[in-house]
Order: sequence, then structure tokens, then C-alpha cells
Amino acid sequence: MITERSHVLVAIGEARRLVNRVWNGKGSVDIHAVAKELGVESIEAAPLHVDGYLAKSESGKLGIRYRIDNSHRRNRFTIAHELGHILLAAAQGVAIPERCRDFERNPAEEVAVSRIGSELLMPERKLAFEISSGRYPSAWDFIRVMRHAFDVSESAMALRMLELWSVGTVLVRLNVDCATPAGGSTFPVDVSQHKLLRVAESGGTVVERLGRDRHRSRLHSIRAELSGKMLDLKCEGNLRNIPGKNGLVRQYWVLGWIISERRIAELCR
Ligand SMILES: [Zn+2]
Repeated sequence: MITERSHVLVAIGEARRLVNRVWNGKGSVDIHAVAKELGVESIEAAPLHVDGYLAKSESGKLGIRYRIDNSHRRNRFTIAHELGHILLAAAQGVAIPERCRDFERNPAEEVAVSRIGSELLMPERKLAFEISSGRYPSAWDFIRVMRHAFDVSESAMALRMLELWSVGTVLVRLNVDCATPAGGSTFPVDVSQHKLLRVAESGGTVVERLGRDRHRSRLHSIRAELSGKMLDLKCEGNLRNIPGKNGLVRQYWVLGWIISERRIAELCR
């Protein structure tokens, strides 16, 4: 089935309502309580080769299995992802198949479902409230506090910033160990999915400058346009070790955002 944007938005809206019902805003979201609300009867670890799957028994009971060898945080993400499948199927008006593993699904659907799962684990309303409080001295301070609060990985939290509707975010990821002196990037310069913000420089220019400047300072600025106005977006760099196929890879992640007061007020109402 084609993954329609309108269905994804309906599923995200439902994810927000669910979280508001089961979560009191303190600590991390109880993903098992969310699963219960969605009619999932069992969530168990299993010796799997995949991260997990959603299954329906002959009697129609829903269950989630996750990989016993994966970390606790990874498994929280897997469970939230599988719940995303339930929410998307409901928005599409289709039944959950008896057993459908992720490698049998289409990639667009997998991305959409992870997006819905992120809404469950890292609710935008809480993030918007915290950002607008102004109590975090820097972008990466905010990411570290929030990732512990929500019990997710630092990467998941940083990437989540690109999904928020109320915040215009830029994320640049540089491979530090690559051959060129300035370092390079295999990623595009990522900007918010909601097009609140546009980077006003070419990706190549930004990557080259950040690769050069990172030796002097972790504080950077990127020329951007917000609602027709030009601004220098304040960003902060963070040297990180990212697990890759052949061990850890060193990357320099530069992250910055600007909030939309109007959208935040709308969310926190
Ligand atoms: Zn999936």
C-alpha cells in the first residue's frame, strides 16, 4: 500500500493523543503502557536476526517481539516502531497482517513508521516546552538532558530535532577521518522536514567551512533564511563516535535551531 502523507499525519496526531493519555510528563514515556492502549497483549525478547516484528495470532491478538541481543534503548525504539505500524494501519483503515517482518515492507513505510514511533518516545509538546524555557545553555546540552530524560540514544535525539514542526533545525554531519584535509560529508546538510528554515549557502561550502573551523572552535554559524528573513543560525559542534559496520567512526555533528514562537505557543496551549 502507498504510504500517503495524510495517513502519516493522522497517525502522528493519534500518537500525540495516546501519549497525552498515558504519560504524566515526567521521566520517559512508558512505551508498554502505550502498547497496552493499542491492544498489544505481549511484548517479549526473542533470539532474532532482525530488530523485531509485530505479529498477530490466529485469534487476532497482537504481540511484539524484539531482539534479545540489542540494547535496552534500541529495543525501546523497536517497540515504538512496531506501535507505529499499528497506528499507521489504523490511519489507513487496513488490518495488521498475521506476520509481516520489516524486510518485507516498503522503505517509505518504514521511514514513516519510525517517525510515528519517535512521536511516542520523544513527544514534541514536551520538547517544545523545554526548548522555549531557555534553560539550556547550548544545543548539545539540550540533547544530552533530553536523551536521558526520554531514555533514547544521543543520535536519535539529535535526529528528532529535524522532525519537529515548531523548530527550524540544521544538522551537518562530517566524517572526520576521511582523506581530505578539511574532512568531508557523505550526508546532505539536513534541515527541518517542515521547511521552516532554508540554508542559504551551498552544502559544499558549509561542509568545507565547518571542516576547517572545527579545529578552532565548536561554535559555528550557518547563513539561513526563516520566513523570508536572513539570519546567522548559531550552531554547536560535537565530536562523536558512531557505530559503523567496521567499528566506531568519528563524526563531527554540527547542530543548531531556531524556534517558531507562534508554533510553540500553539503546541503548548
Ligand atoms: Zn517496520
